[in-house]
Amino acid sequence: MRINASTKITGIIGWPVEHSKSPLMHNAAFDALGLNFCYIAMPVKPEALEEAIKGIKALNFLGINVTIPHKETVMKYLDRIDEEARFIGAVNTIKNEDGMLVGYNTDGRGFMESLTEEGIDTTGKNVFIVGVGGAARAVSYYLCQKAARLWLHGRNMQKATALANDLKKISSCVAVTETKDNIQFADIIINATPLGMKDTDPLPFDPERLRKDQVVCDLIYWETPLLRAARQQGCKTIDGLGMLLWQGVLAFKIWTGIKPPIELMREHLKKSL
Ligand code: NAP
Repeated sequence: MRINASTKITGIIGWPVEHSKSPLMHNAAFDALGLNFCYIAMPVKPEALEEAIKGIKALNFLGINVTIPHKETVMKYLDRIDEEARFIGAVNTIKNEDGMLVGYNTDGRGFMESLTEEGIDTTGKNVFIVGVGGAARAVSYYLCQKAARLWLHGRNMQKATALANDLKKISSCVAVTETKDNIQFADIIINATPLGMKDTDPLPFDPERLRKDQVVCDLIYWETPLLRAARQQGCKTIDGLGMLLWQGVLAFKIWTGIKPPIELMREHLKKSL
């Protein structure tokens, strides 16, 4: 890729952000399409967020991705927020539309695309989600519009209830559950906690009683101990790599209006892990 005076800049802000895989997949896609764009990772401390967002506008960036810990806080510095991102309460993609910064959230739709490509249709299904943080919020927004039942389980009941109350505004299928008992009635079970990132983590739930007709998803990018155990029980398993890929594909389309080379992006992500 040649950077010259016409190069349009995109990137990702977070703190920390050095671990991000997004520059690899986006730059590979820009390159393959011969687009004079580049994608860079920018560490932004929480106290510098407002200035950083002003900079995106002042420096005429095409747009950026936003990651932890800025996804919620960034909303107050934007000119407009897409309806879905507003409902979810977090922005992971910003487009600079002629000086107007517009916020989107592509995480939830990215997850749904990753299910679709695995042949999973959530319509009329019973879904159980463990974890009620930002990622659970994004995916449950879409799931609750199609599922028959959506159970939310979090270690913090107040947070779980707050999410359920928000979702109940658009769907009647949502319930909070204090125990994990309903996993046995679920068609699709999703780990939306970070449990599994470290080898020493306990499993988010006991996989012993899983059945082979159940689908187990983990939002973590690789095969976690939970997914391995579920696979050994005969379940179909889906890791978070597809969600990461598809949230990027959707962001790319928002910035450029062009469909990127998806398999090339997937290849670069896989190689980086
Ligand atoms: P988050 O906002 O911090 O939420 C994490 C959730 O997990 C919260 O409900 C939290 O409970 C719970 N949790 C944390 N540690 C726990 C533990 N030791 N035991 C039980 N519950 C625990 O994080 P997030 O942004 O939602 O991310 C969740 C996971 O999804 C992470 O692994 C992240 O890497 C992954 N993710 C993947 C993608 C992708 O593209 N594939 C995108 C976003 C996130 P408290 O609220 O009580 O702390």
